[in-house]
Amino acid sequence: MSDWYRQARWDREGRLEPLVFELGGPGHIGYSLPKPPEHTNLPKHLLRTELRLPELSEVEVVRHYTRLSQMNYCVDLGTYPLGSCTMKYNPKLCEELASLETATCIHPYQAEGTVQGALELMYKLERCLAEIAGVARVCLHPSAGAHGEFVSMLITRAYHEFNGEQDERTQVIVPDSAHGTNPASAAMAGYEVLIVPSDARGRVDLRALEAAVSERTAAMMLTNPNTLGLFEDRVVDIVELVHDVGGLLFYDGANLNGILGKSRAGDMGFDIVHFNLHKTFATPHGGGGPGAGPVGVTQELEKFLPVPVVEYDEKRGEYYLDYDRPNSVGKVRAFYGNFGVLVKAYAYILMMGARGLEEAAEAAVLNANYVMRKLSGTRGYELKFDATGPCKHEVVFSAEPLKRETGIGAREVAKRLLDYGMHAPTYYFPPIVSEALMIEPTESESRDEIDRLINALKAIAVEASTDPEKLRAAPTVTAIGRLDEVKASREPILSWRMYRKHRA
Ligand SMILES: *Cc1c(COP(=O)(O)O)cnc(C)c1O
Repeated sequence: MSDWYRQARWDREGRLEPLVFELGGPGHIGYSLPKPPEHTNLPKHLLRTELRLPELSEVEVVRHYTRLSQMNYCVDLGTYPLGSCTMKYNPKLCEELASLETATCIHPYQAEGTVQGALELMYKLERCLAEIAGVARVCLHPSAGAHGEFVSMLITRAYHEFNGEQDERTQVIVPDSAHGTNPASAAMAGYEVLIVPSDARGRVDLRALEAAVSERTAAMMLTNPNTLGLFEDRVVDIVELVHDVGGLLFYDGANLNGILGKSRAGDMGFDIVHFNLHKTFATPHGGGGPGAGPVGVTQELEKFLPVPVVEYDEKRGEYYLDYDRPNSVGKVRAFYGNFGVLVKAYAYILMMGARGLEEAAEAAVLNANYVMRKLSGTRGYELKFDATGPCKHEVVFSAEPLKRETGIGAREVAKRLLDYGMHAPTYYFPPIVSEALMIEPTESESRDEIDRLINALKAIAVEASTDPEKLRAAPTVTAIGRLDEVKASREPILSWRMYRKHRA
C-alpha cells in the first residue's frame, strides 16, 4: 500500500478535533476592541446582556483551524478524480487577481463611471465565452450550473410565450444519462419531463427520441460529451429532430473541458448553453463555495436574457448596464453575478490563450483515455458501453463483476481509495451504469499521479478477494471513518445551536 498523503489525527483514541465552542474558556482573549458606544435608543427588551460566543486566544484559534485543514483533503494535496466535477488545479495567479482591492472593495451600487474596469472585465469575459461556445450573447449572472439550467428554461418559456405557443409546448426531453439537475431545472420551470433512454453505445437512442418529439416539445436538454464521457456523435441528427418540431436545444456545458477549443455548442446547432466557470475555468469548488453558471444564447434569443446586460457606448467610450430590455426574463439574482469568480475565469482564459485552452482539453482527454486503457482488462472492473472508441474527458467503469464475485461494490472501492491517500471517483453516477465508478483525471495530473491512481484501483480489486472485511470497514486511516451518509442528509446538524439541541 502506498505511503501517500495521510490526513492528520490528533488523538490516540481517534476523537475528533473539538468544536471551536468547546475550546478555550472565560478570560481567553484573542483581540481587544474599544468599548462600543451605548445604544440608548434601542428598546430594552431587544437588548441582550450575554452573547454566547466562544472565548479563545489567538493561538488557540490559529491552531484549531490549522489542525482542521490538516484533517482535510483537497486538489492542492493530490489527485481528485471526481467524475463530472472537473476538479482541475486552479492557478494561484487567478486567486491573487480576484483578491485585488479593485475586485473586492467595489460596491455594486457604485456609479458606473467609477467601476469601468469591472464592467469592461464582464463585457470582455462575455465576448470570450461567446466565442468559446459559438453563441451571440452570454449572461454572467447565474450562481451555479443548476441555476444556469433554470435560467435557460426560463428563456425557453419566454421564447414560446413570445410565439404564443406557451400552452402547447409543455414538455422538456432529457436523456437518461443526464445530470439530475437537468430534469429538476425543467420541472422547476413548470415543464413535464420526458426521459429518453440511451442506446447500447451509450448515446441518445434516436428511435426513442423520434417517438418522444412532438409539437408539445418545448426543448431538449443535452450534455455533450455526455455523462458517460462519450461524444454524442449523432448530435446533428438530434438537433434536427428537435428543431423540426419547433423545440429549442439546450446544451449542458458542465463537460466543456472535454471539447474546449475543439467544437462549439453553437456550431452543433444548440440555441442555449450554460457554462460551469467553477469546473472549466479555474474556481475551486466542492465545498459549496461561490460558483458561476453563465448562460449563452443565439441572436434570436438574445432579447430574453436576464437584466442588466453590460453594453459599450462607443460615442462616450463607456461601459454601462442596460436594463431597458422589455422581453427580458427579468432579474435572476442580486446584482450581476459572483464577480470574484468572473475575475478568475477571465484571468484563466487570458493566461491560457486560445491554444492553451485547446491543449487543456487535449490533455484532459488523453489522461482519461490513459485511465480507460490501463484499467480495462482488470478483473472486477468493466466498461458497460462503447469500449472500442476513445472516451472524452472522463471514463465510467462498472464494478459489477467485482460485486458479483466478491460482494464488494463501487462504494467500498471508492471508500478504500481514501485509505490510499486519494480522493474517490464519483460513484453510483450516472445511474444507468450499475456499480458506476466515474473517473475524471483532468489535465492537471501527471502520468505518475495517474499511474498511482490506477495501481491503487487494481490493488483494491485484489483486496476485494483477499480481505473483503477491510474494504467494508474502509476508510480506516483517514481523520474520520465511514460516514452515515443517509443520516447526514436526513438529519443535518449545521449549527452550534442545532448541535446543542441534538446533544441535550
Ligand atoms: C456539475 C454538473 C451540473 C450542475 O452544476 P452545478 O454548478 O453543480 O449546479 C449539471 N450538469 C452536469 C453534467 C454536471 O456535471
